Amino acid sequence: MHYYPLTELGNPILRAKAKPLPPAYLKTAAFKKLVKDMFYTMHRAQGVGLVAPQIGKSIQLAVIEVRKTKHRSRSAPFPRTVLVNPVITWRSKELVHSWEGCLSFKDLRGLATRHKEIKVSYLDEKGKKISRKLKDFPAIVFQHEIDHLNGHVYLDRVADMRAVMTLNEFKKRITI
Ligand SMILES: [Zn+2]
Repeated sequence: MHYYPLTELGNPILRAKAKPLPPAYLKTAAFKKLVKDMFYTMHRAQGVGLVAPQIGKSIQLAVIEVRKTKHRSRSAPFPRTVLVNPVITWRSKELVHSWEGCLSFKDLRGLATRHKEIKVSYLDEKGKKISRKLKDFPAIVFQHEIDHLNGHVYLDRVADMRAVMTLNEFKKRITI
């Protein structure tokens, strides 16, 4: 397994719109290895989502998995999911505020505004077209990762910059 060093905030790759993947690429051994290595990198970095631009590749590929850990004991697990060329096709009017962090700038937390529910379309790792509705924490994770593929970070979704803090202060002050 290969661990990729993560690109960090300030790197223009995180501000670029990533290129769609041609479906034929999904059949290649290189793609399968890339997906495995992205999960490995995400788990080692203790994240719940990772996009290809965070490992230096400007392509529309994201991996998501929420495992139960002692740090995340209150989030329901979400199964291993691969998103290729994802598009949000519907957003609820109802908004929620979520404290978010990002593997590309790990020492901050910010209160982002998100849609409570979304509908999303994407190809799975086998190239099958999936359309599904998500709500609550999984919907927030999908919005965070799909934002990345369009050159946005969660700080862009923070309405009041006073609701950005260091991880140390966050741990002292916020219980979620
Ligand atoms: Zn992120």
